[in-house]
Amino acid sequence: MSFFKTIKHWFTEAPHFEGTITASERIGARIQKVTISLPAPVAVPFPVGCFVQAMTWGVIPRAYSVATATTTSFTLLVSFSGMGAGSRFFAEAPIGTKVTCYGPFDDFPYHAGTGRTKIFFATSTGVAPFRRMVEIPLKEGFETALFLGTPKEADIAFKKEFEDLERANPLFHFIPVLSAGDTTWKGARGYVTDQFKGRGDLLRESDIYICGVPMMTAGVLAMLKKEGVPESQIFVQKFG
Ligand SMILES: Cc1cc2nc3c(=O)[nH]c(=O)nc-3n(C[C@H](O)[C@H](O)[C@H](O)COP(=O)(O)OP(=O)(O)OC[C@H]3O[C@@H](n4cnc5c(N)ncnc54)[C@H](O)[C@@H]3O)c2cc1C
Repeated sequence: MSFFKTIKHWFTEAPHFEGTITASERIGARIQKVTISLPAPVAVPFPVGCFVQAMTWGVIPRAYSVATATTTSFTLLVSFSGMGAGSRFFAEAPIGTKVTCYGPFDDFPYHAGTGRTKIFFATSTGVAPFRRMVEIPLKEGFETALFLGTPKEADIAFKKEFEDLERANPLFHFIPVLSAGDTTWKGARGYVTDQFKGRGDLLRESDIYICGVPMMTAGVLAMLKKEGVPESQIFVQKFG
């Protein structure tokens, strides 16, 4: 396909829809949780691990992972810490704003039937695809751990939902890891990789899913390589 045909295809023929922002809530100091309603109900909610390309300011495409979805809407976690074009759009857009979205694109699926425990590594908004994904291995009967790195406790998205899930299901372990936690914080501190010193055996026995900032992704991948975790057990969604 020529360059111009590709551009024409992207803007006119690729699956897209006009969504409407119906809820927008600030989480801590760096995340906007945004709910976008669909123009018409769909038969099944957007798939786990998918992302949409939202046309911010009408013309600037930015990719966002779908955190939750129903047949009539879906929710995104938008980091506004950098205050780039996409961040500013979602941090400032009032309820009722129309957003053209392309997708959903289903490129970070869950891999069922491997017979291994699951470890999920996320930072900040990188937890979005894992909001629903962690529930699948639990239904399969596998031990599942979510390590979520973020500076402060207030910045933990879906904190209550993950804590409720941990209380309800002994197979699920939710481990927020704060890099700048207050003195009152009693949980894990540092970076997500700090939690695995001397636990190479656990990593080698698990499927590993990673989503978040490039520094965390690179750090986890280096740790996995050092510990000899086969690449076939590693699944990555790169945000940047
Ligand atoms: C598959 C996929 C899924 C993704 N899912 C998510 C998600 O769920 N949530 C999420 O938040 N992000 C997600 N991203 C990343 C997202 O698409 C954006 O790239 C990211 O949010 C930054 O976009 P932005 O428009 O806010 O910043 P950009 O405008 O792209 O700027 C990037 C950075 O550069 C800085 N910058 C920009 N212009 C200047 C300048 N002139 N001078 C100095 N600095 C500048 C900004 O401060 C910002 O930190 C995903 C990306 C991919 C590929």
